[in-house]
Amino acid sequence: MQHDLLIIGSGPAGSAAAVIAAQAGLRVALIDKSTFPRDKLCGGGITGRSARYLSEIFGAPASDGLFLPSHQFRLTYAGRRIGGQEDAPTLYMTMRRAYDAMLHDRAREAGAEVFAPVRITDIDTTAPAVTLADGRVLRGSLLIGADGANSATARAVFGRAFDPNEIGFGLEVELDRDLTADNTTEIDLGAATWGYGWVFPKNDSITLGVGGIHVRNPDMKAHFRNYLAIHAPHLADNAKIKCKGAFLPFGDFRKVAGRGPVLLAGDAAGLVDPITGEGIAWAMRSGQFAGEAAVEALASGQPDTALAAYQRRLSYIHREITAARRIRSMIYAGPIRTYFPRAVERNPSMSRTYLRLLAGEMDYADLGPKVLFRLARRLGGSVFRRAA
Ligand SMILES: Cc1cc2nc3c(=O)[nH]c(=O)nc-3n(C[C@H](O)[C@H](O)[C@H](O)COP(=O)(O)OP(=O)(O)OC[C@H]3O[C@@H](n4cnc5c(N)ncnc54)[C@H](O)[C@@H]3O)c2cc1C
Repeated sequence: MQHDLLIIGSGPAGSAAAVIAAQAGLRVALIDKSTFPRDKLCGGGITGRSARYLSEIFGAPASDGLFLPSHQFRLTYAGRRIGGQEDAPTLYMTMRRAYDAMLHDRAREAGAEVFAPVRITDIDTTAPAVTLADGRVLRGSLLIGADGANSATARAVFGRAFDPNEIGFGLEVELDRDLTADNTTEIDLGAATWGYGWVFPKNDSITLGVGGIHVRNPDMKAHFRNYLAIHAPHLADNAKIKCKGAFLPFGDFRKVAGRGPVLLAGDAAGLVDPITGEGIAWAMRSGQFAGEAAVEALASGQPDTALAAYQRRLSYIHREITAARRIRSMIYAGPIRTYFPRAVERNPSMSRTYLRLLAGEMDYADLGPKVLFRLARRLGGSVFRRAA
């Protein structure tokens, strides 16, 4: 079966690419192994940045029953409050099961031909072509791999989906909403090493999780139990509480997001914020960029120009992730890690900045050299006070 564009994966990245390409008139095959609605392990935190892209790409507001707006924010360290805000920039909390189904429906409505649920038995990254378990072969001029952190497309192109020394890992559980009536979003900077814990309120549940760089947290389950004990001590030793785990790229993006006629988007390209763990925004944005690059290249009759056009569009996201990685090294490396929470507690502007970054109200690019110098000085000041 011949299409212009094959897209593997209908998460935020794949559905965004499908909407853009189908609206521009391309014949799009959108392929997923799951039936929608399907679950996806995720905090479901939709930031202001994600909400903007949701509206721009899918024409959907972050305001209907799918979301719980959270206006209060608490920053903690091992359960102790070190910062926060009562009138915080809004975070929209959602369940990925419903959110992704909505995006998937928008892609179908835009005209993408959906192949789901299907099992892929082969990805030919040069033709490009995708063989399904029932024997059908889908062919296109271009292929977008938007199949998540463990991307089969990335494996077919590069031999592996991610670097095990850099990959992040998260554990989560959905708790009863009646545990608390509080709609406060919490981030705990002490819950994991080179990572954090989170409590995200939802309409019908509360998501509690911990995550960080996998190799730096060999016993993530212990971190999870400790964090659960802070919020629900009566549940911490309950064997019936089953957490689930998933990998997420944590700042280790692919410098060149594809090869030949194959473009990688979202987690498959490693596009997750290395400090906040936010990935939905960059997934939607990169999906949009990949879709636009495909449209542009096919309109000019030169499919082989798509990757270069995509790379140009991605450069802003790459700069943001690179800047965030640099800051992450400053705050998590060596002994500074111990002093960072103290510095945050002493300087409320640091927790406000963290929240504005998390909420998508500012970019890392907005943190000029002056701000970084101040951060270094405050960290230095905390180290000095401690030593005195
Ligand atoms: C524990 C945890 C918490 C997180 N919390 C947040 C958060 O609160 N906010 C935030 O912004 N980000 C969060 N993230 C990151 C976010 O979940 C991802 O960055 C985002 O889902 C990436 O979207 P995607 O479209 O690239 O991939 P995915 O959402 O993973 O979608 C990939 C799609 O591809 C399909 N697929 C996979 N393999 C195949 C195959 N072989 N054949 C066919 N189809 C296939 C899957 O079924 C799926 O539909 C979190 C991640 C984790 C692990």
